[in-house]
Amino acid sequence: MSFDSMGIEKTAMDVLRKYPLCDHCLGRLFARLGVGLTNEERGRAIKNYLLMSIHEKIISEGLSDEAINDLKVLALSGHEPSISFLRNLGIEVSPMPCYVCGNSIFNRLDEWARNIADSLRSLNAEYRTFRLGTRVPSDLLSRELNITTEFNISTAESIKRELNRELGKRVSAILGLSFSRESPDVEVVLDITTGSVNIQLMPIYVFTRYRKIRRFTKRASIRWPTDYIAQVYGAQGIIVHSGGDEVSNVRVLGNGRPLVIQVIKPSKRPSLNDIIASLKNTDDYDVIFDGMEYVRGSIIRRIKARSREYVITYRVLAVTENPITDETIRSLHEYFRNRQVNQRLRVKGRVRRRVSMVYELNGRAIGDRLMELLIRCQGNLHVRGFVHGGFGDIEPSIAGTLGFGVKPIEIDILRITD
Ligand SMILES: [Zn+2]
Repeated sequence: MSFDSMGIEKTAMDVLRKYPLCDHCLGRLFARLGVGLTNEERGRAIKNYLLMSIHEKIISEGLSDEAINDLKVLALSGHEPSISFLRNLGIEVSPMPCYVCGNSIFNRLDEWARNIADSLRSLNAEYRTFRLGTRVPSDLLSRELNITTEFNISTAESIKRELNRELGKRVSAILGLSFSRESPDVEVVLDITTGSVNIQLMPIYVFTRYRKIRRFTKRASIRWPTDYIAQVYGAQGIIVHSGGDEVSNVRVLGNGRPLVIQVIKPSKRPSLNDIIASLKNTDDYDVIFDGMEYVRGSIIRRIKARSREYVITYRVLAVTENPITDETIRSLHEYFRNRQVNQRLRVKGRVRRRVSMVYELNGRAIGDRLMELLIRCQGNLHVRGFVHGGFGDIEPSIAGTLGFGVKPIEIDILRITD
């Protein structure tokens, strides 16, 4: 790859002739060139090199108006060696404020970093990682963009990136925190116009699968362990996202149902192992959380989208109006192999239609009017209605197919394939 060494030098000089820029703002135009340098060092190095080139020219060709004008350009951008050079020639130049930042931003980095650190300390919460952002006035951003567009510069980075990085370095040095772009414990936003600091404790997402091993009479059966988890995290609240749900008197056995617990504004960050251990030590074993792990929030949408495609195996104990035999159940087995079921459901006063698959149905007669069924079906089948017919709203149903009343008395979920 060839490299035109005149490129940076010429571009920088052209920019400075039109716009006086401080070392930071000049260096930022070439941020992608050279590693291990700060933008301030880049800008400074370019100005030093430009002065040396002008000096070399003066030595070989004598002092020209052009050389003096170029020295003035450097001096106006605040380059001290150029100011001294001109002063020795009897020319006084006082620098102009930087066209982009007005020299009022980068001298405040330490002050802002201290304010951010103070705000974080006063949070009274545990955190190990942070992400930092800045709000920068839009006229400043557009001045910066004008330059890169006008001079067709493709090596620049934005002032926000430089600010975020420089402030981040300072804050992490003060507090011993590490930086996390993907999943920080806390997020800080500094408004550089007002100096105000906005801090947000980021939510924690815990994935688990729950089993309910007892039939509840109340609906809010998984509330107990989730409330306990909220307490352990010192959280302001909790949102439970599950892949579907079931009525309270349905047990969830087998591998359990996927669930994400969103912990809002946690002030403590105990290890998951501690939480798992303390959940196990409690007397209440009605709801069991298995395989707890930390996840990203984006998993919630995936779980919700997937839940209707779950394949769920139910065990249903049902009493029948007329006597039932294994023979009858075998005919149900034949009839309901891979069968579509149409459901008319009333949700908040509105009728909704839904089609779900029943993949397989097996069972046995337990008594004269009692049967146990295993139903493997799509996750969004209203299984209770499917058994008793839902007063004609579910077609075909078991009761409808048999031609007499069937009443489910126990329903368990044996397996959820997600
Ligand atoms: Zn500047």
